[in-house]
Amino acid sequence: MKKKIIAANFKMNKTDEDIKKYFAVFLDRINGLKNKTSFNDLDAELIFAPPFTALRETHKIIEPYLDFMKLSSQNIYFEKSGAYTGEISIDMIKSCGCTYAIIGHSERRNIFKESDELTGKKIEAIYNDGGITPILCIGENLEIRRQNGQEKFVERQLAVGLNCIKGRNVSSLIVAYEPVWAIGTGIPIKADDGEAMHKFISGYITSNFSIGEFRVIYGGSVTEANIKELMDNPHIDGVLVGGASLDPQSFYNIFKLAAA
Ligand code: PEP
Repeated sequence: MKKKIIAANFKMNKTDEDIKKYFAVFLDRINGLKNKTSFNDLDAELIFAPPFTALRETHKIIEPYLDFMKLSSQNIYFEKSGAYTGEISIDMIKSCGCTYAIIGHSERRNIFKESDELTGKKIEAIYNDGGITPILCIGENLEIRRQNGQEKFVERQLAVGLNCIKGRNVSSLIVAYEPVWAIGTGIPIKADDGEAMHKFISGYITSNFSIGEFRVIYGGSVTEANIKELMDNPHIDGVLVGGASLDPQSFYNIFKLAAA
């Protein structure tokens, strides 16, 4: 059975010191939840995406829990090495313990002007390298949603972003459907609309690609108040949480409600 994915995107927040304080609380709650030896029975996997500078510290802290807690970077560059000031390679994030990488987050696309094509190059580099599962973020803005163009829009993001795996078998993929109008606004998608989009995305992936295991998770103003309603839908395989993941108690509550 597919485990649900509950992922935290810390964005540009938290130093190593903050990470230590965060996990002191988070792991205290986790240890109270179950005996460590039986975490495997949990129906959910946690993924943490701290900033690059906190990857090693986070990995050190979650190491005893790696059977259900994983580490992700928030980005990578597609080249292996060279004169790319400010960029981070796949080997570099692997050396910090990452097994996931977020690719094409809407903040990368909108603030740093990353195109679908660049996103596709990053996905290609990840699959050529092996060992990392991409978390490909897609999602329409408000104007597109108002014109009911969301399916067409995410279809292009998927087609270009995943062009490199056409006609090829890959083992795993996570797609994060994150409507831009729902990110950080406190206005999540209505559960029915979310389910419809996830069903569409799953159908598109199944028809066009050969992937051993893929999951479609939702992101955009997820909190403890709406997690249950979202997770009750058959095509919503998990969540990517930004703002509400920054507080360890609130992220633990989200995890507990989703994994229950
Ligand atoms: C995100 O940026 O990936 C996100 C989902 O943010 P938030 O939960 O704050 O809307």
